Amino acid sequence: MADKIRIDLGNERSRDGVLIALSAMLALAALAMAINNILLGYQNINTVIIAEFLTSGIFAYVAYKTVKRQKKPWFAVLISYAYGGLISLALYTFPAGSTVIQWWYAFPVLSLFLLSRLHGTAVSIVMLAVATSLSIDNNITVFDRAWNAGLPNLILPYLIILGLASVYEKVRVQNERQLTEFALTDPLTKCYNRLALKSSFSHFQSLDTQYSILLLDIDNFKSINDTYGHEGGDHILIKISQLFSKFFPHKNIFRIGGEEFLLIIEGEKTESVEKAQTLRKNIADCNFSYQGKSIHITISAGLVSGIKNQSLSNLLLSADKLLYQGKAQGKNCIIQ
Ligand code: GH3
Ligand code: MG
Ligand code: MG
Repeated sequence: MADKIRIDLGNERSRDGVLIALSAMLALAALAMAINNILLGYQNINTVIIAEFLTSGIFAYVAYKTVKRQKKPWFAVLISYAYGGLISLALYTFPAGSTVIQWWYAFPVLSLFLLSRLHGTAVSIVMLAVATSLSIDNNITVFDRAWNAGLPNLILPYLIILGLASVYEKVRVQNERQLTEFALTDPLTKCYNRLALKSSFSHFQSLDTQYSILLLDIDNFKSINDTYGHEGGDHILIKISQLFSKFFPHKNIFRIGGEEFLLIIEGEKTESVEKAQTLRKNIADCNFSYQGKSIHITISAGLVSGIKNQSLSNLLLSADKLLYQGKAQGKNCIIQ
């Protein structure tokens, strides 16, 4: 798993919708071309007809797999390139003044939507070069007159569309990043929250190796608030989160309640227990200071080891029982 947890804010679903529509359209176009060639009775182009059927099948497969939510990364590349290729072929084939060029103007928007910003911009520029050179070759635009009328009219609107699509995609990516961060991060401690835990837990469930969840709660936290005020309590929550980060990766630390955290420790159980005990001792030995005063803190925790495909709610239930056992036994301990 990448270090950052991600959720789909709807972009991925709309991308899938466009991919399905476009691949279905291309499948139908290839099928129509094959049927057309058969009806016209072109005996000498059997291989072309077979290729058209095959192409139609591939596009239909892409549409089907995307509908089934089994999309592969190469689908978007294939469909964008196929769309670009088809337009290039049509631009080459059809004479001046044909309406094919209007399909060409949709290319930057589609490729930037389906591919990354960089990839989409690069292939759009390639398409610009292809289409303008084909136009010149086919005398759609006579080169001598091109700079007076034809070529700028062809290129400039395309560049405007490409530029706007690129700016929009940049803003969209930034917004998505920021909204994801807001949705998944606890604003006080900057730890991941409960939603992030739910979104990322399938990663741990799919691991072949063992992992443990450590459900921990700060002991007597209410008295810290009572003594140092809510701000003092907040300060401790921030500092203790920073201490967790020294022991565990950011993606494994979740604040799931007021002064309750869940840490996921990867590896064998004995190793995880050792790591959890080291953390507990470190917290107990640490001098948390607030406004020049030293604050002593302890934690209690329940540790449960997960095996493949175990549900989060079951693990949490077991860890919660152990945690309360720890509280009942006098706190500052880890129960497994
Ligand atoms: P125990 O050892 O049994 O866990 O006792 P405790 O005092 O830690 O537990 P209790 O549930 O009685 O109190 C938890 C307190 O945490 C109460 C609540 O006001 C405080 N709290 C919850 N969220 C925040 C927060 O974001 N900031 C601050 N400062 N306090 C919080
Ligand atoms: Mg609590
Ligand atoms: Mg507590």
